[in-house]
Amino acid sequence: MVIFKQLHNFAAFLPISSSLKIFTSKHSLGEHLATLRNTAKTIGFVPTMGALHQGHLSLLAIAQEQTDVVVCSIFVNPTQFNDPKDLEKYPRPIESDIEKLKQAGCDILFNPGVSEMYAANEQWHLELGELENLLEGKFRPGHYQGVTQVVYKLFDIVQPDVAFFGQKDYQQFMVIKKMVDMLKLPVRLVMCPIMREPDGLAMSSRNIHLSPEERKHALVLSKALHWLAANFEPVKISLLIKHCKEMIENEPEVELEYFEAVEPETMHPVKNNSDDLVVLIAARVGHTRLIDNIILK
Ligand code: AMP
Repeated sequence: MVIFKQLHNFAAFLPISSSLKIFTSKHSLGEHLATLRNTAKTIGFVPTMGALHQGHLSLLAIAQEQTDVVVCSIFVNPTQFNDPKDLEKYPRPIESDIEKLKQAGCDILFNPGVSEMYAANEQWHLELGELENLLEGKFRPGHYQGVTQVVYKLFDIVQPDVAFFGQKDYQQFMVIKKMVDMLKLPVRLVMCPIMREPDGLAMSSRNIHLSPEERKHALVLSKALHWLAANFEPVKISLLIKHCKEMIENEPEVELEYFEAVEPETMHPVKNNSDDLVVLIAARVGHTRLIDNIILK
């Protein structure tokens, strides 16, 4: 925690390693990026809430392949949490995150405090249409307003050429795509594959909250998705979904929120003749809420 306190007390910009530059002030970051942009460097951006794992690092690696300078942000965004307890217990291991970013060769970390990002009582509403109330949106009211609010601000500060997001949060990607299209924001979005543990569990900052017993039960999420993929035939989709739901509901400690096959763009439930679809799942395992998905073609 020492480094974290120092960052917020002293520095708008601290060169902690020879390569990773850390900014807590949007103004200083903006100035630095403007200089880089003047030398015709393309800027890649990976927004995160920290507690970095291989999933986040895979986004950074893809960003490094596609752009000249990679900016990662770590900001636990309060406006996207609808459960105050979830916000409070969200992991914030900033020192080890900084170490991981250095190891990964990331160029810039933006790690602002809440007051750097938000004015008091700030209002935000973006018309997101149906996407806002489906699936995650239904179970986490207001979540995508908070997500678009912070991503809009981060895009405004970083002005990336390309921004990289994980398929892990498939609906989040579609919502951000909608915002970018609607507001005609000058950024290209890239969806990066889901990184999994060797046993199939999708990597997530929340996995550390799982007890060893819960972690075993949590495997049913990825098992169900992979079973469905292995047995996929478009005409059988309703039956396959039914079987997977039973599989999950029979697993101890796991409380299913949704398991749905949807059309990739609209995210409406698929018909029996859809060849392209995304199957998404959300479930609580003990007190931990987990999501996962698979794209089938
Ligand atoms: P978060 O810190 O959870 O907000 O995630 C930051 C970014 O990392 C988002 O674009 C996520 O979709 C992505 N991400 C999270 N987990 C994974 C994973 N297991 N594999 C790939 N990307 C991920």
